[in-house]
Amino acid sequence: MHASLLPSTLSITKDLVRFPSVSHVSNEAVSQFVADRLQSLGFQIEWHTYRDERNQTKVSLVGKRGSGAGGVCYLAHTDVVPADDWSLDWCGPFEPTERDGRLYGRGTCDMKGSLAAAMTACAMIEPSQQSKPIYFIVTSDEEVGMGGAKIVNAESKFFREMVETGTVGIVGEPSLLSVIHAHKGGQRLAVRARGRSAHTSTNDGINANYQLIPALNDLLAIRTISESDPRFQNTMFDPPTLSWNMTITNEPEAVNVTPSLAQVNIFLRSMPDVDHSPLLNRIADLCKEHCLEFDQRDAVNPWQVDPDSDWIQAMLQIVGQSASKSVCFATDAGVLQRLERLLICGPGNIEQAHRSDEWISLEQLELGANAYLQAFQHWVR
Ligand SMILES: [Zn+2]
Repeated sequence: MHASLLPSTLSITKDLVRFPSVSHVSNEAVSQFVADRLQSLGFQIEWHTYRDERNQTKVSLVGKRGSGAGGVCYLAHTDVVPADDWSLDWCGPFEPTERDGRLYGRGTCDMKGSLAAAMTACAMIEPSQQSKPIYFIVTSDEEVGMGGAKIVNAESKFFREMVETGTVGIVGEPSLLSVIHAHKGGQRLAVRARGRSAHTSTNDGINANYQLIPALNDLLAIRTISESDPRFQNTMFDPPTLSWNMTITNEPEAVNVTPSLAQVNIFLRSMPDVDHSPLLNRIADLCKEHCLEFDQRDAVNPWQVDPDSDWIQAMLQIVGQSASKSVCFATDAGVLQRLERLLICGPGNIEQAHRSDEWISLEQLELGANAYLQAFQHWVR
């Protein structure tokens, strides 16, 4: 064990958390910090940028150190979920603070602590000890549509090289250092009725809800099938269902104005080996019948690899566990699955992510850095 990995991991985590890189603002500054650090460790950097829908500059990095084929890649994201609901008065969301063996702050658990652990582990390896490359993929917008992973998948030369040479990818999302071999994906749907907005003191309005309401019972019936028919379940997951969720929105939303838009938003957590297209066809038919618009938005694919594969088994041995698991949330792995030899393993508990008092234990930070050091050594020898 390398007990000395904690101080560096902790200090880099704090530096990362001080950048308020919430998904709706630019992640350029935190990406520059990561790039500088990787460059000081001898990495070459690919810098991929785009403007998001709010016209914010988003950066995803791909770094490479060493030559040869295969090797290992560590994957993380630099964006964090909003901290508007932050609940601690003794520690701001972007003022990382240690207390009782934990580090508090937005992104400590998801997933700047993990990134710091991987950078610390990498610093322990002399480039001269490597006969294969180490790569880092550090993306933007993982929490909101995975735009960063998409640009890496489309543009990165280093990523193409990894796909072609069979690099092992470790997605460092918080799993309490369990090894994950499968996760659900996500599919957003919208069913929409349009009317005309007018003040209700006049007769000029057409209330969009009156067109939507008759369709709602039929939608609910499809939802019941979705959640109860074994065809739409995969018992590898808990819960085994598509977890159909539905919200309804109106625009404008004032009680003295007729809404010009009534929209049902549906989110499904798609699963490997489950074809949910019959449900989508039923929704499409229903929309035709009721003269509603049906919009199938951005989908993130579910992901799975063989739990008996050599890379899953090797990582299990490194973390001292006997069996890999599946999880119900999506990650960049869904977008980057052209890289076949992928796994998820990272410090911290997903239950502490996205919370108003997000934290990671110092023990997990240290165990994470040690696990990554052993993994890097294993795959670059
Ligand atoms: Zn994450």
